[in-house]
Amino acid sequence: MKKLIAGNWKMNMGGADAKDFAVSLKQAVIDPACEVLVCVPFTAIPDVASVLNGSKISVGAQNVSWADSGAFTGEISADMLHYAGATHAIVGHSERRAMFGETDETVKKRTLKALEKGITPIVCIGETLSQRKGGLTEKVLKSQLDGAFDGFALQQMQRLVIAYEPVWAIGTGETATAQQAGDTVAFIRDCLNKMFGYSPRILYGGSMNASNAAELLNAGIDGGLIGGASLKIADFKAIIGAA
Ligand code: 13P
Repeated sequence: MKKLIAGNWKMNMGGADAKDFAVSLKQAVIDPACEVLVCVPFTAIPDVASVLNGSKISVGAQNVSWADSGAFTGEISADMLHYAGATHAIVGHSERRAMFGETDETVKKRTLKALEKGITPIVCIGETLSQRKGGLTEKVLKSQLDGAFDGFALQQMQRLVIAYEPVWAIGTGETATAQQAGDTVAFIRDCLNKMFGYSPRILYGGSMNASNAAELLNAGIDGGLIGGASLKIADFKAIIGAA
């Protein structure tokens, strides 16, 4: 399967800057060997999707509601994302878990709704520094997998993506070594194989950049979820080139 390189712009570039960036990205990434996706702020989805229409780059969001419509102030539905032009949505990013009350239960509900509506969820899991230091990494990841996917059918697992993002490596400049990332992704894959007889694509995220991408992507990992380095055309292009 082709690798997937996904940018997560987080709360950056929501207006005219997004459109300009998309124009440059489209010119820079003509025929990538991997799949490429940019998960952009909600307000940027229509412009970025329209610029990237006909290119090899897909557009995603950074969240999706578990509800179809109604009294859910501040949420966005899968139908709204479709209308805006998104095909994917990040679910359960550690920043949402840490700052906005996201739990394994809400991650599961959002993932189910996205699947029902034909939006591809990119479900994020990962341990904190204290959990890693305390030897709890595998326990935490297994419980996040159970919490998010318990009761899922194989056909549902086949339509989603998982991102392993160690919280201590996000935005810190501290990357997991290829060995650490590879070993942890192998553990996650093993858990999923035991649960479903199948492992979806597993991405790595956390300070991936132009210099460390090739080594990380060679460690048995199916792609990357890239924050900071996805905001610079040259860096993002180099990561795509490494995949
Ligand atoms: P950085 O690449 O900036 O560390 O962010 C990773 C991330 O959180 C992607 O979702």
